[in-house]
Amino acid sequence: ADVFHSTPFAPPDAIFALTAGYQADPFDKKVNLGVGAYRDNNGKPFVLPVVRKAKQILANDDSLDHEYLPIGGLPAFTNATGKLIFGADSPAIKEGRVVSIQTISGTGANHYGAEFLARFYEPFKGKSQAEKVIYVSNPTWANHKAIFSSCGLTPVDYPYYDPATIGLALPKFLDFLRTAPAQSVFLLHACAHNPTGVDPTREQWEEIAAIFKEKGHFAFFDCAYQGFASGDLDNDAWAVRYFVSQSIPLLVCQSYAKNAGLYGERIGALNLVASHAGEGEGGAARLRSQLLVLQRQEISNPPTFGARIVGMILNDDDMFEQWKGDIKTMAHRIIAMREKLHDLLVNTYKTPAPGPNGWDHVVKQIGMFTFTGLNPEQCKAMVERGHVYMTGNGRISMAGLNESNVEYVAECFDKAIR
Ligand code: PMP
Repeated sequence: ADVFHSTPFAPPDAIFALTAGYQADPFDKKVNLGVGAYRDNNGKPFVLPVVRKAKQILANDDSLDHEYLPIGGLPAFTNATGKLIFGADSPAIKEGRVVSIQTISGTGANHYGAEFLARFYEPFKGKSQAEKVIYVSNPTWANHKAIFSSCGLTPVDYPYYDPATIGLALPKFLDFLRTAPAQSVFLLHACAHNPTGVDPTREQWEEIAAIFKEKGHFAFFDCAYQGFASGDLDNDAWAVRYFVSQSIPLLVCQSYAKNAGLYGERIGALNLVASHAGEGEGGAARLRSQLLVLQRQEISNPPTFGARIVGMILNDDDMFEQWKGDIKTMAHRIIAMREKLHDLLVNTYKTPAPGPNGWDHVVKQIGMFTFTGLNPEQCKAMVERGHVYMTGNGRISMAGLNESNVEYVAECFDKAIR
């Protein structure tokens, strides 16, 4: 008997399908602006110098074995990762209220974060999955909705991006926060919003946080790009730290894929903030015990290699300084490409802009991505006529641009728009 007879075809992942199309394309000037992975000025994957150094140290360390890690992860890593996002002097860290578990990169952190809320978030008690709502920005990282749905939550959009201004839809977002039921759960991108590159300013974050506080909303922070937005780790953690200072209930998902260039090593963390450090109700010890249950049934023990590398970098002052330099190298190359693309569109090609503020959004947006404002038809022309691979929503990965291809890409923009 054909026991899998009615298995339907699942659609291919849009981003990975785009990369496959790029790889199969024989055109010599082709450019891949789809996937959010950093490339150096030669268009090549970048191994951070500090990671190279860490790997050498590990290779020469004969004391390292291949035993299982503890269920919660490598202590050198889990003891340090929370400090990176919250700050070493954070009240939550000092009071022992932060619980950090090593995860399969940012994806795994989002997964456990959602499962933990589905099981233990008090306002969800006795509710069906349809009632366990997590509000997500419209738009958001394509995988968020899939992960949250598979973990027992129901994702529902909140207004975030305004196509008319190619910027933040702040009034609509604030209204939504005000009218949502008390103690609602909201996904927030800690910095470098994917896919729009549109982040609130500090003043706007303060307005957002004030409503969270007033309504008792829960902030589910996804932080996949710390350091990538501004080139500075502390700067990019500002929103999370501000929410902690306002005693807003929250969790933070961390990924070291982008800021340490460790895409394939799958190293990340989920950080919960408990109301107190102890073993009593709501205490850090209880939350931690339940995270260990989630980990055990899902992957049993997390992998060692990425945790050893990041653990070493976070705990060694010299390597940490070197890492900060490496992050600056990546972030500043991206910022330079924003300026170059902006200059070409405005001054060289005088390309008509899709929004009311010219091409300013190219330099104003933050992090790995630019939401160009191109419509689906123009995006299609970029791919089919220009061999410039980008998603149909107008998003381009700035990391795919370099000194050798940015002029060609600007020329393709001009042709696609006129
Ligand atoms: N969250 C966001 C917003 C992302 O953009 C990504 C990566 N594209 C992730 C989470 C997870 O990435 P990873 O699992 O590779 O850390």
